[in-house]
Amino acid sequence: MAIVYNFSAGPAVMPKEVLEKVQRELLSYKNSGMSVMEISHRSSLFADIQKNAEGNLRKLMNIPDEYDVLFLQGGATLQFTMAPMNLAINKKKIDFVDTGHWAQRAIEEARLVDGIEVTQITSGADSKYTSLPEIDDSLQEDADYVHITLNNTIEGTAFKIVPTFKEVPIIGDMSSNILGQRYNVTDFGMIYAGAQKNIGPAGLTVVIIRHDLVEKSPDLPAMLSYKKLVAKNSTLNTPPVFAIYCAGLVFEWLLAQGGVDEMEKRNRKKSKLLYDYLDSSSVFQSPVAIESRSLTNIPFVTGNAELDKQFIALANDNNLVGLKGHRLVGGMRASLYNAFPIEGVEKLITVMEKFELEHK
Ligand code: PMP
Repeated sequence: MAIVYNFSAGPAVMPKEVLEKVQRELLSYKNSGMSVMEISHRSSLFADIQKNAEGNLRKLMNIPDEYDVLFLQGGATLQFTMAPMNLAINKKKIDFVDTGHWAQRAIEEARLVDGIEVTQITSGADSKYTSLPEIDDSLQEDADYVHITLNNTIEGTAFKIVPTFKEVPIIGDMSSNILGQRYNVTDFGMIYAGAQKNIGPAGLTVVIIRHDLVEKSPDLPAMLSYKKLVAKNSTLNTPPVFAIYCAGLVFEWLLAQGGVDEMEKRNRKKSKLLYDYLDSSSVFQSPVAIESRSLTNIPFVTGNAELDKQFIALANDNNLVGLKGHRLVGGMRASLYNAFPIEGVEKLITVMEKFELEHK
């Protein structure tokens, strides 16, 4: 089979070694004679899988003991609702940093939670979200927390440094760059991420939350309550066992590769290769301001929708798939998550150079 390079924004490429291990273990997990899909979530076999996955994630991200780790369902989207319900409880106010589509989706969902007041303390709308708004402590209103989307999957921007807000915790949506670059967990009250980009298969959402925030959260229906989910160690009902198992294998793979710092190094190298090419090309450009650029999601355009279409077709013919930009912004987007190999970036650039020669 020809090598296919998958640039999809999510569900996205997984490490080949992990998929091979899944394949080897699929019919009989640890000689149990059962697939990991068939064992009880209350069995010791699964309890070990979950424990190891959590332990390895703690190692990878240096998660201190005062933070709980949850493996949930409902995607990052459910966290747009759960975070306000559980955490916007005193002032009933949330400050949002508006950095584009996913921040807007989080804002819309928070507005639907009864009695919550939402303020956009700053916005990148003026630049059409091609650069990140400045944020500092002076922007902070009288809120329960500030919500930030760390990496903007569609617009291709990312905060490298997390601003500090002295009075209130930051809740961070890290869906598209968790484990891809180093952040300090202690800069956040809570971090959440859908798994299907940098962690594993869809169906799993990782939540990392400071325990005092969990303690203070109100009584809510079980599946919406961090407190009840923490009390039951994420197994209040049947958790997404297969996705947790795969995530655990990805965490092991990441540790074996050298952890988050090594991933960040590789992601910097891969993205620099593509950005340098884009900045020198006479046909393709990056629409994103240099200082705001993401390491994991790189949109690019020719400025001509017809040419974009032709390029995507040429890329597909060369087994470079998943490059079509998000329907909201058009153009192309290369998602270079942890499992995406540098050879795929090199091949993309070769095909872009060929296209450039033909369309100068
Ligand atoms: N936040 C960000 C930054 C995302 O990229 C996505 C998905 N692309 C979401 C939230 C929504 O995630 P989910 O599909 O897991 O609900």
